Amino acid sequence: MKLTFCGAAGTTTGSQHLLEINGQRILLDCGLYQGRRHDALERNRHFRFDPASLDAVVLSHAHIDHSGNLPNLSRQGYRGNVYCTFATRDLCQIMLADSARIQENDIEWLNKHRTRRNEPPLTPLYTPPDAEKCLRQFVTFDYHRKMTIARGVDLTFIDAGHLLGAAQVILDVNEDGRSRRFLFSGDVGRGDDVLLRDPETAEDIDFILMESTYGGREHEMSPQAHEKIEGILKRALHDCGKVIIPAFAVERTQQLIYVLNSLLDSGRLPRVPIFVDSPLAVDATEIFRLHPECFNEEVYEFLFRKRNPFHFDGLSLIRSADQSRALNSLKEPAIIIAASGMCEAGRVLHHLKNNLEDPRTTVLFVGYCAEQTLGWKLREGFREINVLGERVRVRAKIETLDSFSGHADHSELLAYYGRMTGRKEQTWLVHGEPERSEAFKNGLRDTFRADAHVATLGHSVTW
Ligand SMILES: [Zn+2]
Repeated sequence: MKLTFCGAAGTTTGSQHLLEINGQRILLDCGLYQGRRHDALERNRHFRFDPASLDAVVLSHAHIDHSGNLPNLSRQGYRGNVYCTFATRDLCQIMLADSARIQENDIEWLNKHRTRRNEPPLTPLYTPPDAEKCLRQFVTFDYHRKMTIARGVDLTFIDAGHLLGAAQVILDVNEDGRSRRFLFSGDVGRGDDVLLRDPETAEDIDFILMESTYGGREHEMSPQAHEKIEGILKRALHDCGKVIIPAFAVERTQQLIYVLNSLLDSGRLPRVPIFVDSPLAVDATEIFRLHPECFNEEVYEFLFRKRNPFHFDGLSLIRSADQSRALNSLKEPAIIIAASGMCEAGRVLHHLKNNLEDPRTTVLFVGYCAEQTLGWKLREGFREINVLGERVRVRAKIETLDSFSGHADHSELLAYYGRMTGRKEQTWLVHGEPERSEAFKNGLRDTFRADAHVATLGHSVTW
């Protein structure tokens, strides 16, 4: 077996790992590299292998940094199957279409500048029809259903507890008369998730390919700290203001809807209108409702004992731009959940522009904000910011809850590795900035005397 690191080595995006087994080529994930525009275009256009030469593709989960280059892979000649779970396929349907629209808008913007410089126009990496066509290659099955995907290679998905449908990939490999078990962790969740089950324990593992996003870092809040949301919301609504929650459309928004649903159900929150203002979030919420096979016990019971975990009286899911604009004239207290989570784009910008100067407003951050983004500036306490080209004084209260992270931190990753059984002969670390992966490698060596290594781009391991 030969493993080549074709992406997400020394960085957290562009997950792509090529396995060669019994003369066949299997690609694990086909993620989009996200970085500076020019660099990203180059890296995403050119694969480190011939797409037509692949025999199978296995997809761990639907996040764009793991799935986002699939339409391009098909466009460049891949004709085989893409194996994933049911929920991953359904989320890819909306997320790849959304990514295609972003690719088109990006290229349109770039081409405006290129025309001015008399440079030839570029074509987008892929279009919405490409995104739709590649979905026809998806072959889906549930966790724990062992499937033969190539000669001498059986695939089983087990739960990763990271995103709806997210899986750890187990390959039972039979090569040259030897049987061995390979694990690709995909992205590993924290456990105790609001909606999802805990990451499952992999057994009898011989070789590990593992993420290391939070190597050397610990989350400040426990996964259950979302209960603090009750206090923050009660205080904010007591002030009779609006609560604006910038949130990623997929997963974070659905977690919030469920938490709000539970608080209302137990009478712990006063009834005020709640709006989810993002077409992608509305589509994603529909998909979540259709996949109880991914829910933890509490949400599963809620579904069968009570009702749809993602709907309740007073919740409005908004797709149209007119309805979104109508929220601007709303005078009474309300909770508005809108994308994007870092406030870099999306409808949340209108709500911020209209409400930041009102001291009764609360802005609640529930996710990570990269440095220099508008969300980061608000969290850092900037008193004046630019929103949609206008200078705005910040009089609103800013609150932060960091408990919702989808990624296990350093200790949680170590515990995940520790629970795993088997000979664990070698561990290769991907999906991390170099110092994060290095810190986790040291953690594995110190704690378990593991034979752990940090992967570098283009490097191959034979085993
Ligand atoms: Zn992910």
